[in-house]
Amino acid sequence: MTTATIIDGKEASARLKDCVAKAVADLKAKHGLVPGLATVLVGEDPASQVYVASKQKTAHALGMNSIQHNLPAATSEADLLNLLRSLNPDPAINGILVQLPVPKHIDTIKVITTTAVAKDVDGLHPESAGRLMSGRAALVSCTPMGCLMLIKDVLADLTGLHAVVVGRSNLVGKPVAHLLLNENCTVTIAHSRTRDLAAICRTADILVAAVGRKEMIRGDWIKPGATVIDVGINRVPAAGGKNKLYGDVNFAEASAVAGAITPVPGGVGLMTVACLMVNTLKACVTQNGITDVALPMRLPPRV
Ligand code: NDP
Repeated sequence: MTTATIIDGKEASARLKDCVAKAVADLKAKHGLVPGLATVLVGEDPASQVYVASKQKTAHALGMNSIQHNLPAATSEADLLNLLRSLNPDPAINGILVQLPVPKHIDTIKVITTTAVAKDVDGLHPESAGRLMSGRAALVSCTPMGCLMLIKDVLADLTGLHAVVVGRSNLVGKPVAHLLLNENCTVTIAHSRTRDLAAICRTADILVAAVGRKEMIRGDWIKPGATVIDVGINRVPAAGGKNKLYGDVNFAEASAVAGAITPVPGGVGLMTVACLMVNTLKACVTQNGITDVALPMRLPPRV
């Protein structure tokens, strides 16, 4: 039986996007500036095509400019890096996003480090990560930012709470952990070598699962009343040739114990694109030295 509050990612992301759209309009009215996002897709992976199309569509819907570069899968590393070098100084482009993964013959690290830090709206550049770690202003990876916004929407004060983050990737686990640390949580990062993971999870006031293993986290791993954020997206072939999506948390079991929980789909995933829009706006404002446009750094209250 579900007793937890279901955290509605669709409703939350709509609230955030509304806020971004208002800030974009304010920026245009006050300064005649329109944030510009460049997305780069190498190859024709269907899932990546869907993600990039959704980013483009959202940027346009919020009043931003968005330019898409579709490159063939055989594009050389040098050509991709040269495209990034041409976008870096372009004043009409405030954010650059190369959809990952790139084809195997291209070095992902080179792609990430060739993107200008100021335009690194995916927050993956080592300097962006270092700034986050040292508590300095930074463009933070979109999914971790979305996780924190959802948590702060549920919990008024995170100070002193024990947060357990399962997963230590540069994309999700580590930045989520640093964001929670910056909010004065006591943070434990767990991973594939962690001993007695269930017992550690059971001590979490906030549990963030970013693993990539279908329903690995069971109901009896959850502390009663905990806030559970399920980042996992696990695709399982279903009838009709379609995939069914599962999280890393067994939702049926966990929602009977947790205080609040994100579903999959319909939770964190929807916040990721909205947070990309926040980053593109923030990049534009920062690059132009603007101080009189309010940036949505957390979810606005429900009306
Ligand atoms: P990675 O594969 O890069 O990292 C997975 C992490 O999980 C690793 O740190 C790994 O540990 C850990 N792990 C693996 N198996 C276990 C285990 N049995 N017990 C404990 N920890 C384990 O994945 P990502 O961080 O990129 O993504 C995680 C999940 O989130 C995926 O399902 C992905 O699809 C999803 N995702 C969702 C997004 C969204 O918008 N909703 C965005 C990005 C990702 P170790 O380091 O020891 O190997």
